Amino acid sequence: MSELPIDSSPFPQSPVTPESLEGDARLQFQCRKGIACWNACCSNIDIALTPVDIVRLKQRLGVASWEFLRDYTVPYEMEKDGIAGVKLKPVEGGTACRFMNPEGCSVYEDRPTACRYYPVALLSMRRQDEVVDRQYYAIVREDHCLGHQEPRTQTIDEYRAEQGVVAYDDLARGWRQLILKKKSSGPTIGKPSKRSLELFFMTCYDVDRFRSFVASESFGQMFELPDEELRDTLVDDYALLQFGYRFLRQVLFGEVSIPMRSDSVEQRRARVHEQRARLEREAAERLASEDDEGGAYVDI
Ligand code: SF4
Ligand code: SF4
Repeated sequence: MSELPIDSSPFPQSPVTPESLEGDARLQFQCRKGIACWNACCSNIDIALTPVDIVRLKQRLGVASWEFLRDYTVPYEMEKDGIAGVKLKPVEGGTACRFMNPEGCSVYEDRPTACRYYPVALLSMRRQDEVVDRQYYAIVREDHCLGHQEPRTQTIDEYRAEQGVVAYDDLARGWRQLILKKKSSGPTIGKPSKRSLELFFMTCYDVDRFRSFVASESFGQMFELPDEELRDTLVDDYALLQFGYRFLRQVLFGEVSIPMRSDSVEQRRARVHEQRARLEREAAERLASEDDEGGAYVDI
């Protein structure tokens, strides 16, 4: 049984050869305020972001996803002619993270997955005869990081739980699976079209633009989503991400799970108009009743 060791890690190239550790492997490490290397890791960054990281950070900063991408990130190619990733942009003319301050990380509660994991690297792998990916880990040992000399020891699973990465990994699993599938499909799928690369980028990283796309008439004319599902998807960034992974599996790999409309263009247009009018009417009614109660309103 052969194995495809596919590194879909959102982490920079490690100076260490991947060890493929399991979650019960032990890690001697502690990062603490007052340690002599405080902020050394954040002074020279190479932080790749997951879709979940982008949602957390753009929500924290109160900006739209496209503004976050424009102001705080740079795109990079995960592989030649392949799908793109996104990295944190360092300070102008330097290498330090823009969120670093003398106290540490100014966005600590919403820090990216890679920052939470460090000095552990996540390696997603999939065997050729399996459809589910497996997670392995490697330890990154860099000279500047003195945390490895601290006396605290725990398992990698305990460290992951302590750093709050479990929920992040769950929400980003669909994205990692898409990357694995793309990498393992290789030349049989062929070079992806410019359009499919753009769709991947928008769907995974620019969630607010993807929301507008899903809410658009042209999307509604192609796909048939029940009202409730459409509404639930549009009001929640994380639901939208999960729907986006599904959408990409359908568009890129032909795994159909979103019903397509089969009626004529005119019929589709009429049905979409009718659905949009119904949703707008319901939203207006909700707004009116919430105004009466002094509650919040979520615009779809
Ligand atoms: S986001 Fe925070 S933890 Fe991550 S590199 Fe920047 S300052 Fe450091
Ligand atoms: S111990 Fe390592 S992770 Fe912590 S501040 Fe120092 S270099 Fe960064």
